[in-house]
Amino acid sequence: MRIFRWLPVLVCFVLTAVVLPAIAEAPFSFESTPGKLPKSVVPRHYAIRIEPDLEKFTTRGTVVVDIEVRKPVREIVLNALNLEITSATLFTGKEMALKPTLNKEQQILTLGLPNEISAGKYKLKLEFAGEIGEKAEGLFYVKYATETGKKVMLGTQMEPTDARRMFPCWDEPVFRASFEMTVVVPEKHLAISNMPVEKERKLSNGMKEVKFGRTPPMASYLVVLVSGELEALKGTTEGVDIRIITTEGKKEQGHYALESVQNILAYYNQYFGIKYPLPKLDLIAVPGGFQGAMENWGGITYNERLLLFDPKASSAETKQRVFSVVAHEMAHQWFGNLVTTAWWDNLWLNEGFASWMASKATDHFNPEWQVSLAASLDKAGVMSDDARSATHPIQKAVKNESEANDAFDQITYRKGQAFLRMLENYLGEETFRAGIHSYLSKHRFSNTTTADLWEALGKASHKPVQAIAAGWTEQPGLPLVKVKTECIDGKQLVVLEQERFTVRDPNAKPLEWRIPIALIGSVANAGLSRGEHSNVAAKSVYTLLGESRGTVYFTNCNQIVKANAGNAGYYRVVYQPELFQRLVQHIHELPEIDRLDLLQDSWGMVEANRGSVESYLTLVESLRNEKSWAIWSQVLSVLELFDNLEQGRTEQRAAFEQYACTLIQPQLARLGWEAKAGETITDTLLRSRVISLLGQFGDKGVMSEARLRYGKFLTNPESLSADLRPPVLRIVGRYSDKKTYDEIHELARKAKGTEERQLYYRALAGALDVELARENLAISLTNETVPQEATRMVGEVATFGEHGELAWQFTQEHLQDLLKRVEAFRRNGYVPSIMGAFSDNGRADELVQYVTAHLSMDGLTKAKEVAETIRLKADLKDRELPRVDQWVNRRAEPTKIP
Ligand SMILES: [Zn+2]
Repeated sequence: MRIFRWLPVLVCFVLTAVVLPAIAEAPFSFESTPGKLPKSVVPRHYAIRIEPDLEKFTTRGTVVVDIEVRKPVREIVLNALNLEITSATLFTGKEMALKPTLNKEQQILTLGLPNEISAGKYKLKLEFAGEIGEKAEGLFYVKYATETGKKVMLGTQMEPTDARRMFPCWDEPVFRASFEMTVVVPEKHLAISNMPVEKERKLSNGMKEVKFGRTPPMASYLVVLVSGELEALKGTTEGVDIRIITTEGKKEQGHYALESVQNILAYYNQYFGIKYPLPKLDLIAVPGGFQGAMENWGGITYNERLLLFDPKASSAETKQRVFSVVAHEMAHQWFGNLVTTAWWDNLWLNEGFASWMASKATDHFNPEWQVSLAASLDKAGVMSDDARSATHPIQKAVKNESEANDAFDQITYRKGQAFLRMLENYLGEETFRAGIHSYLSKHRFSNTTTADLWEALGKASHKPVQAIAAGWTEQPGLPLVKVKTECIDGKQLVVLEQERFTVRDPNAKPLEWRIPIALIGSVANAGLSRGEHSNVAAKSVYTLLGESRGTVYFTNCNQIVKANAGNAGYYRVVYQPELFQRLVQHIHELPEIDRLDLLQDSWGMVEANRGSVESYLTLVESLRNEKSWAIWSQVLSVLELFDNLEQGRTEQRAAFEQYACTLIQPQLARLGWEAKAGETITDTLLRSRVISLLGQFGDKGVMSEARLRYGKFLTNPESLSADLRPPVLRIVGRYSDKKTYDEIHELARKAKGTEERQLYYRALAGALDVELARENLAISLTNETVPQEATRMVGEVATFGEHGELAWQFTQEHLQDLLKRVEAFRRNGYVPSIMGAFSDNGRADELVQYVTAHLSMDGLTKAKEVAETIRLKADLKDRELPRVDQWVNRRAEPTKIP
């Protein structure tokens, strides 16, 4: 247990009555769940048979659905997309031929009946033909290089709305049904679906038919089918068969994932109090094809860089990512799969929860990774977005497929996670767990809305959870808590008030929240009453601030008061100036996570034009001797931002970079280039980041050392440790000439795994030389790497390579060719991701105008979000950069020779 020098003290607190109105959504009801499909006919069971053709990339299939007609109907309405329905029959005791009509725009298949049928149970049989694409939408193929030439494997990605591309179905999450999958594949393939293989039989021509067991009732977006020349690493935990499945020759890189799954499965079984409900769990590494990971029940798919770990060649960052993504997808097996949100407007409940749960598991098994600090860094990023006009509430109406794809954003994942972290901290760890257990038990194999979770947590905690939560999930934005103190009769009265915190949004609607505020006071009064709201995990005193001001008494007028103790709160804090001064004077006595919080608040005020950049930089300089990885991460990200804003101002940029180097160099001196025996993982991560930025800022010593190490690496790859490869390659790539570029390009083409391949392509993308930047842009349209990775080159050329204009021109010239290669998840964000490199208001306008004129209106939300980011950078450039320059010039003066 960590001992804090700052202990919470509460003499008493006066809490004004909370009368904020709650908007409060209703608990789950099947009938009132949004969606396009009528609820008069529901599927209960699907028997699917698919015959993929691996030469023509087409499929033929049959699906027999047990349906329940709930009231008399004249038609059956379900989803299908890019399928040809060759036959449709309803079995009502006799066979009834149906007339299929496909509406491509709506992605709806309507089966007209010759006459009305009454309520009851029927069988529906559909035969169909479809296509297998290269993008991760429905059934897709991946071509990957092996020693014996290119091979092909099949995978699926159904979430949110692409199961309908593989077979006709009721493709909305509220229509739970069981699935029985059968597939015909080459005999040498290993085929995987949600359940274990039930039966395999040889066919002619080297093919086989594989039939899988029946799933429990589940949403269609969780169906999985993977097939290829694959190998498996096996284990068993608490009766569940576990496999890590890879392409040939890679299973040995699955040991870390296997060990992680085994630990996490046992931990989740215990945490949720409900055993993982399927007999097996496969984690499948896909070498390209799609970029993320998908929680398909019983058969999770991962881009291989998120699952494979090679102790010799993978970095510490990769190790952390593997653990955390494995933990995230496994959390979904309960939260999302066993209990499923009814509609995409509640997606945050799946994603926010899985992200939060992954942090919890990661912290449990790897306390030295300092997960709460990492979560605080993530939180600050989303808070900055959330303070701007283009934000939206966590819960947001979703009307169509494109909006469902857009729902997978930072607000859904990060704000959702941050809110749950704050709530758990407030309710207490055990109470929160008890609420989660009762929620999962009550709704298992069913659907829910957010209201169902709040009800369970409210019952477990006896606190007004639903009323607290509404403000955070149904309103956009976040609060600013203002802290003032007064000395009255020798006691310190702390007064807390709130208002909406905004960045560049002067006309934002005023909003209020119920805010659980954790306070820490001074060590001088340790041992006094902590009050009933004290929370052991945070070692702090909680008060719930409503719309009126809250007051808290501390016993001593000299006590230091800090709000957001433990940095788990989703709000910014501004202190009365004297109070802030006192905090800054004593900053070294605060726990690391609270030091980070002060720094983040200070930067937040700069973004909001409420605080001065000088005050932020003063704080940074006072932390010069700081060893904390998290604190330096915050500082380095701000230095990198200013360095980007300095682009095009050669002399002043050089002065800024020199200043930035003097701030960071002591860290490299402390850490050294080589890992020390037994060093913490956070030191390893910090070293890599410090070297990379010193290289970017033109530190001559770092640049020549990087080149030296790169030279040795070419002849002896093992000479460069896995953790130094990203910074060294990035520096060498940035300043490369044609010869070096070609060397790295050759390495990229020959790379065997995704992590390695991405390392080299990213190094190439950062090239400052304009001719090399043109070569990079050309790669985005080739097939030398997987298309999804190739198209990312354009955005990286704009950001890392600092060739925004060139990349933007290229994008406009090749828009349709580029968009064809981008999967649905990223389509609306693609153009904004390239324009996001700019920092001029004119570019923000241009982005919105361009998307309006050339792309679907669905893309406008993302465009407006990024336009706001560009405008914020423009503001910072106009307002703060001259002050930063003055600051830098003043610092440089004493060394100048008159
Ligand atoms: Zn997820």
